[in-house]
Amino acid sequence: MADANPSPAPQMDTDKEVIVGKYKIKVLRSACIGAASCVAVSPGTFSLDPQNKAVVNSGSTDVPENILMAAQSCPTKAIVIIDTETGQQVWPA
Ligand code: SF4
Repeated sequence: MADANPSPAPQMDTDKEVIVGKYKIKVLRSACIGAASCVAVSPGTFSLDPQNKAVVNSGSTDVPENILMAAQSCPTKAIVIIDTETGQQVWPA
């Protein structure tokens, strides 16, 4: 939980991986165009930051099927999902 990063710079340029349930989710910020499809499909999991880039809410309780659907709705395939149980990337397939 501790943030050992001493840099004062915000985390805006890093593609942070967040675990939600059995999925590890990453938004490729350079690919995200702020279309917000992901937010519409799974508002508990995704939201837009002030830069209009999607961020993942680690406290999401959404079901994996819906999170996957949210990722699949992204027009630029900016959301990467890895199944932590199998280690397989499930999206983009
Ligand atoms: S749907 Fe894709 S492009 Fe749109 S906000 Fe979500 S991650 Fe970004």
